[in-house]
Amino acid sequence: MATGLAVLQRYSHCQPDGRGDNRVLSFRAMQSRIYQSEVFNMACRQFDRAADLLDIPAADRERTKYPKRCVAVTMPVRMDDGHVEMFEGYRVQHHLSMGPTKGGTRFHPAVTLGEVAALAMWMSWKCALVGLPYGGAKGGVAVDPTRLSRGEKERVARRYMQEMIPFVGPNTDVMAPDMGTDPQTMAWMMDTYSNVVGCSVPAVVTGKPIEIGGSEGRLESTGRGVAYLVKRYLESFNVRPQHSTVILQGFGNVGSHAALGLLEYGCRIIGISDITGGVYNPAGIDVHEALRHTAVHGNLGGYNGGERLSNEALLEQPCTVLVPAALERVITKDNAPRLQCRFLAEAANGPTTVGADEVLEERGDIEVIPDILCNSGGVICSYFEWVQDLQSLFWERDEVLRKLFEVLDKARYHVESQKERLGISRRNAALTLGIERVARAKGLRGIFP
Ligand code: NAD
Repeated sequence: MATGLAVLQRYSHCQPDGRGDNRVLSFRAMQSRIYQSEVFNMACRQFDRAADLLDIPAADRERTKYPKRCVAVTMPVRMDDGHVEMFEGYRVQHHLSMGPTKGGTRFHPAVTLGEVAALAMWMSWKCALVGLPYGGAKGGVAVDPTRLSRGEKERVARRYMQEMIPFVGPNTDVMAPDMGTDPQTMAWMMDTYSNVVGCSVPAVVTGKPIEIGGSEGRLESTGRGVAYLVKRYLESFNVRPQHSTVILQGFGNVGSHAALGLLEYGCRIIGISDITGGVYNPAGIDVHEALRHTAVHGNLGGYNGGERLSNEALLEQPCTVLVPAALERVITKDNAPRLQCRFLAEAANGPTTVGADEVLEERGDIEVIPDILCNSGGVICSYFEWVQDLQSLFWERDEVLRKLFEVLDKARYHVESQKERLGISRRNAALTLGIERVARAKGLRGIFP
């Protein structure tokens, strides 16, 4: 099962140099080399901070922090014009101590192994925080899906799953959608897996269409979860949704469903954006019209429901709630001083750098709803889908959403208690809860052999 990279990493760890410290250093250096990227460094720094707060013994830190397994594959895919193009695909499984690993698959040109590893780490802390029996995983293909025809996208998705079959399965690693992938992509992946193993295996992916074993409520669950948590936080700070304005970055699955949910709760959506730039309208954007535009044109380009602003400028407009729902590392130490929101709801994974966190903590006037809590609705509903698939017993949408909101309320309660108890930021409260649970599970299981 070990990949070339994993073998290399283990070999380095076993160098008989006789000096414990050197061994740890060389292991760390190897990890940094394998996963080298800003976003991986950011996830590591977040872990280190939380581990310090928890006082995790040095001997247990490396084991808890670094990914268990990574797979990198080269994928030849035949394009519509007949030529063969090569793509790079990745899957990182962060830890296997609490059940199968679970995580999305991203199709984006900027995907790297390091980014996927960071996203897998965050998935681990997220699953543990909300009490799911999973380790974290993530995967991706470095490809721009907007430049692929439907047939090409299908062949990339199928080839990716085919390459990953030795490493995934309903009891080992369960995939889901992420940026650039959707229910149809999951259907192709599930079909590929099922064809190879010889029977229908819906539980190998989540986020599928309902007709082939998907769950009611899963499609909108991440965005709806974001909206629900924002509402709960507004209530706890005595801010009425009807008096709240919202700006969202990213108008894909998560951003659009968060916008719809917040609209339903009475908020006014004054800014939206996607890869083509931002639209700003203090009088309120017609979200349904914007969705109709994206359904026809594929993006917000040419949408004239407000003033056009750059993505960067949009983030800095005054609003009650700012919702980054696209990429990592968009709130930085440079723009954090200029944010004019009261709440920062992190629908994307890793949208706020460590430097920006320091600025926000110093400012103290922005309530951060950290990513591993804020966007956990997606993996919670994915868990519900997996459970339904394994039992072949399916729930109504109301039941799914009721259960989702119960889990979110419980997680929010734990985060707020931890924040008060330790006198730490909300992000560190969420991270320490997740990391502590993973570390405890590893301790209880011990080391084999
Ligand atoms: P998506 O592909 O459906 O939408 C992504 C959106 O971001 C699109 O509107 C795209 O145009 C926009 N975008 C891309 N690059 C951008 C840029 N440079 N500037 C501004 N906008 C840009 O993806 P999604 O599923 O909505 O995922 C969005 C984020 O939410 C990601 O960080 C993802 O990891 C996270 N997330 C997704 C889920 C899920 O269930 N889909 C769950 C948890 C977290």
